[in-house]
Amino acid sequence: MEEKVSIVLTSYNKPAYLQKAIESVMNQTHDNWELFVMDDHSNEETISVIHKYLHDPRIRYENSFVKPEERIKTTRYATLINSALPFAEGDYISYLTDDTVYHPERLSRMVQTFSHKPEALAVYSRQKVIHVNERGEEISHFYRNADAVLDQAAFQVDHCSVMHRRSLLDRILHKYGSYWDDDMKHWNHGDSIFWTRINNFAPFLPINEVLDTTYKTPNSFQNAYQSLPADLIDGSFVKGSDQNVYFIDQGLRRPVGDIWGSLYLNRTVTVPDPYLFQYRIGKMLNIPNYILVKEAGHPAIFYIEDEKKRRIMGQYAFRFYQFKRKDILTIGKEELEALPEGLPITRERSSLIENPPNRRLFLIERKSFLFLHGVLHPISEQVVRKFFLHQKPISASFRNIHKFSIGKPFYPVYDEIIKKLNIAIE
Ligand code: UDP
Ligand code: MG
Repeated sequence: MEEKVSIVLTSYNKPAYLQKAIESVMNQTHDNWELFVMDDHSNEETISVIHKYLHDPRIRYENSFVKPEERIKTTRYATLINSALPFAEGDYISYLTDDTVYHPERLSRMVQTFSHKPEALAVYSRQKVIHVNERGEEISHFYRNADAVLDQAAFQVDHCSVMHRRSLLDRILHKYGSYWDDDMKHWNHGDSIFWTRINNFAPFLPINEVLDTTYKTPNSFQNAYQSLPADLIDGSFVKGSDQNVYFIDQGLRRPVGDIWGSLYLNRTVTVPDPYLFQYRIGKMLNIPNYILVKEAGHPAIFYIEDEKKRRIMGQYAFRFYQFKRKDILTIGKEELEALPEGLPITRERSSLIENPPNRRLFLIERKSFLFLHGVLHPISEQVVRKFFLHQKPISASFRNIHKFSIGKPFYPVYDEIIKKLNIAIE
């Protein structure tokens, strides 16, 4: 009898990829395997994909039914893996994420390697990494190599490129009190922390063949965290993996109705769920802030702030603050009248910039700032792009702008984390 492999697949809201992942296991040339599909309370579409495969007795399924507030407390895939491992019956253990496919020879090549090397406890293989866009089309790809025996596999080897003997699990549990460390602080590298645990007992032996392909989608932690500042920018449209669009309104995320579809369609920022769920949910949005509106047949143009309307006083002010006519939305007379009047937006040549509109970009002494609630926030080019702040910056100097305080910068924190860890993103 062939030796058995236990595969733990973690799943969350990627139905199309999940289907490919499950099928890649079913297409293995080595058929003595069991697959744990550990779903982290996904949407219905994902669950119905899983149900299509449950007739296969080798497939076991568990739904975590995790509550939103619990989701941000641990590294979820590590938590899910830990709940599957006590039931694993395989001689070997292997991990799979829902955006990765095993190549058909993966299990057989790895099992074969173990049988030639009885002393080996862990092996890893070469991986193809494909970056895809929202439509699943390839943008670029690269390979993670497997050509060295690794005493420190952390940050070298992906989640889905490893197989280890089951005997390691007891030793890890005994030494650390758990299998995978699911502490939230390792959310983006929980696999590496586990590899470090393995490396306490054994090196990783390489198999220099591509045995899996992983897809980096815009929803992947890595892509979604990239260029993301510590705080979401007020007035942004954001969505997590369930595709519901929210409007960030002074620390709350407010559901947005379809009627605003034309506004958010091309400027919704995809963010990771744990990041999104930190924001408390607010009331349904009536009208988004920071948009230009007018009434049909009337020349007056208003900018919405704090659900008030600020009238833009004249063409010069309109152009100075880099507003664009194509961004003006025509709304109903009653809707406009219902909005209380805010301070007018004025601009006189050579006077101090005093009550500028919010959420506008300024270029002051060659640095970019985003003006929000009386504060100038330094902002980087990457964040500007990520948040679709397409406006041309308004030139000012610290002499002609009121002395606003300089606030917390909007710089990408994840890129900083990556730089510190010295992992290359290609
Ligand atoms: N995942 C999960 N719960 C969540 C978010 C993610 O179980 O709330 C799983 C997901 O299904 C995947 C793994 O965690 O198997 C890694 O997530 P993702 O692929 O988004 O991250 P990346 O590829 O960027 O590391
Ligand atoms: Mg992934």
